Amino acid sequence: MPAPEHHIDFTDPAVTPLSRVQDRIAQAARIARRKAADVTLVAVSKTKTADAIAPLIAQGQRAFGENRVQEAQGKWPALIEAQPDVRLHLIGQLQSNKAEDAVRLFDCIHSLDRPSLLVALARAMDKLDRRIPLFVQVNIGEEAQKGGCTLSDLPGLLAEARTSELPLAGLMCVPPAGVEAAPYFALLAKLAADHGLTGLSMGMSEDFETAIQLGASHVRVGSALFGAR
Ligand SMILES: *Cc1c(COP(=O)(O)O)cnc(C)c1O
Repeated sequence: MPAPEHHIDFTDPAVTPLSRVQDRIAQAARIARRKAADVTLVAVSKTKTADAIAPLIAQGQRAFGENRVQEAQGKWPALIEAQPDVRLHLIGQLQSNKAEDAVRLFDCIHSLDRPSLLVALARAMDKLDRRIPLFVQVNIGEEAQKGGCTLSDLPGLLAEARTSELPLAGLMCVPPAGVEAAPYFALLAKLAADHGLTGLSMGMSEDFETAIQLGASHVRVGSALFGAR
């Protein structure tokens, strides 16, 4: 007599998308002889509702990434009120006229890419008396349609940020899609080292392990945590 079919779910309820990503970060750090604690996981929650975000907060995730100021203003104040140690990272392009709103809501900005925005952020930080770390976004693949400052504009922009005494965290990039990201991560790491910067915001769902091997301090992971957008 054939064994009856048992539809028993053997999935460990402790294994979640978050714990899986955390394990992969730990493993990548181990291979690179780095400490997992030196890699900040920024959970990219753009387009996701507060209901989708709350379980991650409940599981202990504290750093979140959004790409639009207005969207973040809609959903985050209530979540932050419930969990005040949440830290918000702005990872999308920022218009200068939203600089003040961004400095008020976010704890870190990854998309400083031009002198006019630098001026607007400096003014906003002075006005609000609130200084938050900034990553300079570099258009690492020199793609026409991509955000980020050009490789040739980078030294000037960094010099200007230093003159304005803005808190510089490091460099950020989004490599070209569909090709091996490692050479671009390596280039960003070299540029940061050349300019005496330690922060490296690089690596997304598809390539965060590679980014960790190449020195990422912040990985920005969305779909591996929340599912496809
Ligand atoms: C959406 C986004 C991410 C996350 O991408 P996933 O592939 O979903 O992990 C990371 N960085 C930036 C700048 C993004 O816009």
